[in-house]
Parts: sequence; structure tokens; C-alpha cells
Amino acid sequence: MSKASESKPETFPAKVLANKPRIKLADRAGEVRELIIEMERPDFHCEAGQSIGILTPLPADADEPFHLRWYSIADIPARDDRGNPNVTIMVRRIVTQDQMTGETIRGLSSNYLCDLAAGDRLEVTGPIGLAFPIPEDTTATLILIGAGTGIAPFRSFIKTLRRKHPDWSGLVRLFYGTRTGLDVLYMNDPNEDLQQYFDQETFDAFRALSPPPNWADPIAWDMAFSERGNELLELMDKPNTYIYVAGREPIRDHLDSLFGKLLGSANQWNLRKQALVAEKRWAELVY
Ligand SMILES: Cc1cc2nc3c(=O)[nH]c(=O)nc-3n(C[C@H](O)[C@H](O)[C@H](O)COP(=O)(O)OP(=O)(O)OC[C@H]3O[C@@H](n4cnc5c(N)ncnc54)[C@H](O)[C@@H]3O)c2cc1C
Repeated sequence: MSKASESKPETFPAKVLANKPRIKLADRAGEVRELIIEMERPDFHCEAGQSIGILTPLPADADEPFHLRWYSIADIPARDDRGNPNVTIMVRRIVTQDQMTGETIRGLSSNYLCDLAAGDRLEVTGPIGLAFPIPEDTTATLILIGAGTGIAPFRSFIKTLRRKHPDWSGLVRLFYGTRTGLDVLYMNDPNEDLQQYFDQETFDAFRALSPPPNWADPIAWDMAFSERGNELLELMDKPNTYIYVAGREPIRDHLDSLFGKLLGSANQWNLRKQALVAEKRWAELVY
């Protein structure tokens, strides 16, 4: 909920150009939709790893002054004939249950966005945060860990990396955690697999899939990590390895527990993580 002490950010108008399903689920709860939005501001500039804010219209009796939610830019923005940037975002429709009352709760912003049609107008702010800077050293190793919609910033990150540094020779390891096999679909554009950007020798993607087909179940990171534990530890020891993480908050605890196991204790991992953060070799976009 937006806090009363927060001031409403300045917004600018935008228009939905397309809203299509990337992951269809029978009851639509948990579906992921891809929205292409025209920013009606030619001077709007954003980069991979940044997010835009959307203000959801509220009824007069709402118990919050405004409802602002952020969405990662999932593609390098293209400019249309009017010179306006077109930004792609991926939105998961949040439908959840109140733990105490069992009442169904529909996320305000995600349902608002998922229900918009081409031509609808919306209020946008931002962008914020350059979560994942591309290291200057083109031989650096990049370990990218994304869960669910956390894949979105890595889509644009990898495309930018390839565009700005066609000579990139460092290893790129993408771990993508999904709750259902279907989630894998929104990692890629329909005709554009991320792997095409890299030689197989340097780029590899691993999937952590949860066995039950329910989007709300936890992601099975353990297997993906335990199979590659030794490689991960070796890479982490290199001074030019960068680890970037994106997704919903539980990912932080999962990774702490997995890296704790790999290093032998939670304490060892805490110390290692602190050092990586201090050296700017660990960055998180956790929401
Ligand atoms: C920097 C940043 C980038 C983000 N990028 C993306 C993105 O690319 N795509 C995307 O879909 N979201 C992204 N998010 C999350 C997004 O901003 C919203 O939090 C999300 O869409 C829910 O907002 P809402 O208004 O629909 O739900 P709210 O009205 O805020 O919440 C309704 C209820 O749902 C619960 N809830 C909220 N999110 C979830 C969830 N994921 N799973 C289960 N329960 C939940 C809340 O605890 C609450 O009980 C990002 C967040 C940040 C901070």
C-alpha cells in the first residue's frame, strides 16, 4: 500500500499498443501478459535493468492516496514514427488468498494492467534504478538468476549486452526459476530465443522447475544448483564474476539457504555475500 507520507510522483501519459498473453492459465490467476506501451514523451529514456512505475486509478473511497507499482523493462525500447519510445513489460496477474479469512484478493495494479486493451491510456512514472550494470571487463563472468517475472530484466540485459558488446567473451550463466513449464515461454520472444545471442561455449541457461503445475508453488532451485554447485563456487572465486538476482522476495531466502549449503554454513555465506555486495559483484532486484 502507498504510504500517506509518500508523495505522489509526477506522471506522464502513455498508451497501450498491445496486450497479449504470454502464459495462459485456465482461470487466469497467475497468467503473465506482455504489454507494449507507448510513452507519450519523446525525451523518455530508459535502459535494461530499469523499471517503470504505473499509477492505478482508484475509487474515491480508496484507503490509500495512490497505488504505485513498478514493472521491469523487458526489452530494449524501440521508437515509433512519432519518436515516442515503446516499452515492453511482463505482468503476472496476482490473485491470492487472505491467510486469515480465505478471502480472494486481486492485486490492484496487476489486474488493472492485465485487463487493459490496445488504445487504453495510463499514467506512468520513472524510470528508476539501473539494477544491473554491465561490467567494463568483457571477459567477466555473469551469473544471472531470475525467478518468474524476474526473467524480464535479464531479457533486456542480455540483448543490451549483445548489442553494446558483440565481442563479449566472458561466461554468461542464466538460471531461471519457473513455477510451471509454461513460465519458460515468457523468457523468450515467440521467434527469438535468448540463446541465439551467444555461442554455446559462453552462454548457458539452466531451468529450475517446480514439479506441481501450480504457479503459487515454490520454485525447485535446489536441483538446478546442486548439479552445478562446484562450478558456481569456482566462478564465484574469480574476481571478475558478477551475480545478479531478480524476482519475488522468497528468492532471497532460497538463495541464502542454497549458497549456505554450498559453502558449508550460513555464516560463511553471509560473509561471502557481504564481500560480493561491497565489491559491487552482487546486485538484487527483489520485490
Ligand atoms: C523494481 C520492481 C520491479 C518489478 N517488476 C515486475 C515485473 O516485471 N512483473 C511483475 O509482474 N511484477 C513486477 N514487480 C512487482 C509489481 O510491482 C507489483 O508488486 C505486483 O504486480 C503486485 O501489485 P498489485 O497492485 O497487483 O498487488 P497488490 O495490490 O500490491 O497486492 C495484493 C496482494 O497480493 C500479494 N502479492 C503481491 N505480489 C504477489 C506475488 N507476486 N505473488 C503472490 N502474492 C502477491 C500482496 O502481498 C497482497 O496481499 C516489480 C516490483 C519492483 C519493486
